[in-house]
Amino acid sequence: MIGRLRLFFGGEAKISSPPVVRRRSSKYRDPDLEKRAKEVIHSLAPELSSRLLIGWNPRMRTTAGVAIAARWEIWLNPALREVSQVEIERTLLHELAHLLAQFRCGRRRLQPHGAEWRQACCDLGIANESRTHQLPFPGRKLKRRYRLSCPVCGESHERVRMPKRRVACLACCRRHQGGVYHERFRLVVQKIL
Ligand SMILES: [Zn+2]
Ligand SMILES: [Zn+2]
Repeated sequence: MIGRLRLFFGGEAKISSPPVVRRRSSKYRDPDLEKRAKEVIHSLAPELSSRLLIGWNPRMRTTAGVAIAARWEIWLNPALREVSQVEIERTLLHELAHLLAQFRCGRRRLQPHGAEWRQACCDLGIANESRTHQLPFPGRKLKRRYRLSCPVCGESHERVRMPKRRVACLACCRRHQGGVYHERFRLVVQKIL
């Protein structure tokens, strides 16, 4: 079984549907946030500022924001609007620091909250930013109810939600299949009691 792969940090390989969203024209883009982000970044990295795309992702639950360096995008959790303007700004800067750090380092692979990110935080005026947020988002304390384990290598990890799509062991797919999904490595889902 061959499909497109989406790689996740949880150690899974997923089949994903073909890319459909033309993100640049996404209705979830927020021109005001984008303007704010561009202003902030402009003096530090004018070239980055012109590429930024900022918006809201209604599918986010426990994450406050996410930065996608490959496309210079930042997506924020709409629940932030119910928290405060201050938290929106803080999260925006946190994620901008990720993009700025990556922009400065080119294609080099960075530690997500490593020295380069810290430096970017300083430059953005949030020197004491922490790597995680403390917001009372629903789901933040949800118990992980499912254990997914690889029938071949035995690696397992836990999840809050039942995976909606078929997922396979990322490590095994990489090792034996050149990174392509194979049914043989499909993770076994077990409910944790
Ligand atoms: Zn971060
Ligand atoms: Zn495996």
